Amino acid sequence: MKVVFFSSKVYDQQFFFETNQKYNHSISFLEVHLNESTAVLANGYEAVCIFVNDIANKQVLQVLAEQGIKLVALRCAGFNNVDLGAAEELGIKVVRVPAYSPYSVAEHTVALILTLNRKTHRAYNRVKEGNFALNGLMGFDLHGRTIGIIGLGKIGLVTAQILKGFGCRVLGYDVVKHEEAEEIGVEFTDLDMLYKESDIISLHCPLTPQTYHMINDESINKMKDGVMIINTSRGATIDTRAVIKGLKSEKIAYLGLDVYEEEGDLFFEDLSDKVIKDDVFMRLLSFNNVLITGHQAFFTTDAMQAIASVTLQNIADFEQQKPLENEVKP
Ligand code: NAD
Repeated sequence: MKVVFFSSKVYDQQFFFETNQKYNHSISFLEVHLNESTAVLANGYEAVCIFVNDIANKQVLQVLAEQGIKLVALRCAGFNNVDLGAAEELGIKVVRVPAYSPYSVAEHTVALILTLNRKTHRAYNRVKEGNFALNGLMGFDLHGRTIGIIGLGKIGLVTAQILKGFGCRVLGYDVVKHEEAEEIGVEFTDLDMLYKESDIISLHCPLTPQTYHMINDESINKMKDGVMIINTSRGATIDTRAVIKGLKSEKIAYLGLDVYEEEGDLFFEDLSDKVIKDDVFMRLLSFNNVLITGHQAFFTTDAMQAIASVTLQNIADFEQQKPLENEVKP
């Protein structure tokens, strides 16, 4: 099939070219995001392949349909950027990659916890400059500490498993009771108890109307003094202004983020020679107990290989008119 990729980076091209040897689709790569002004670039193709910050609203989908696009293939799990109703009306199918590697995100979560706790990022810079002083680098044993995991799906479960290996007590909250979590020794609890007892709280639930800003002034007040909060799920599960308040009052002693509610204007781009105008983000960066990565938790070779395989298989299934296992519908 003739497919054009939007928002592509060198690493996308590498993994998709390699994997496509098995599929033989005709693939082209564009660096620009898909939006109202770039949709015409899909002219001459049958499918578009898009990522988290591409926009496939009604207007964009209309232009795509006029160009003859029949399939939108998301190379990610989330689909909040696609107007599924408009796609259905226009006869455009939408497919995604529902799961690739829960290990990639869970392991990055633990990397954030360990780095914030043992301050290896600060030690690395100190030692490079010949500063071997230990002041300010004191951490705590993870062994015996209580970790609260919100959302015990694929990623939350792997995170729980890893932290059990450290000898942590793991509390879990989910709207669904997962037996696998109980089998590995996660103690199910309600949110209030999780906030009250946890030394570290890690978010692994999706962004929904129920989870929007669930970490806010009220929930932070219920937490232990000196709590560590980690978010590798979606930025808007946290009210950023509330965590800034919590950091200033020292209620929150550590914050690790891979996602940020306004990340669309920042992440995945090199802005090192630009002025960053987001004052809230810049305030976060000013704390030495805040560690931010730019939505890279998924970014392992294993996950990229899985994303490329599933995406190209989704496109092949569409071409061969097979049932679309990973179709998303309104
Ligand atoms: P999943 O669907 O397997 O698990 C999500 C879990 O959250 C489910 O068990 C669900 O019941 C639970 N949940 C839903 N609503 C809830 C609520 N109100 N309170 C508590 N729990 C609730 O998903 P997953 O694959 O484990 O992914 C989890 C999150 O990680 C998603 O938001 C996803 O977008 C994010 N993610 C981030 C990255 C990254 O690179 N940072 C990569 C992949 C996924």
